[in-house]
Amino acid sequence: MLQLIQYPHPTLRFPSKPLSRVDEALREIIDQMFEIMYEHRGVGLAANQVNLPLRLFIANPTGEKESGQELVFLNPVIQKATGTIEAEEGCLSLPGLHGLVKRNKAVQVNAYSMDGKEINLKVEGFLARIIQHEVDHLDGVLFIDRLFDQGPKVAEEIARFETRFAKQREEGQIADDQKLAEQRQDWLDKYCK
Ligand SMILES: [Zn+2]
Repeated sequence: MLQLIQYPHPTLRFPSKPLSRVDEALREIIDQMFEIMYEHRGVGLAANQVNLPLRLFIANPTGEKESGQELVFLNPVIQKATGTIEAEEGCLSLPGLHGLVKRNKAVQVNAYSMDGKEINLKVEGFLARIIQHEVDHLDGVLFIDRLFDQGPKVAEEIARFETRFAKQREEGQIADDQKLAEQRQDWLDKYCK
């Protein structure tokens, strides 16, 4: 059963590795990721947000199960990015925190679909922002890294996440770094060899 992880869980800082295979179990993982994304009212979710070190993310700009389009990007690469635009962002791995983030206005993304088809998409607007946010995740980058001026309130919120994480670790709810690294390696052996 997949679970959403929150900052500062180490897998959020792990640069995801490209997939070399797809199987039925991965399809089920993606279905579960959509369930988790909708449940938390998100519009995008990267695999490392559910503790998987794999280079894939999902998105649905409407954030609603019954509308919009469910997009799956395997091994995404942003090939071209143009323009600049600032807008407010949040993240399911830092619930409750928001801030203005500068992104490119339009991006061209190359990826693969679950059935092995190449995706070449030129997008702008909200979906372009989602794609940049999610590709950042896959590179181990969080939107808080891109906040121009965090300010004391954001710093306070971040400290709160860190304190809570430390407590969860003490209580044994989250495995230690070595165990997490072993878990990630199992996934890499399965999908990225
Ligand atoms: Zn996020």
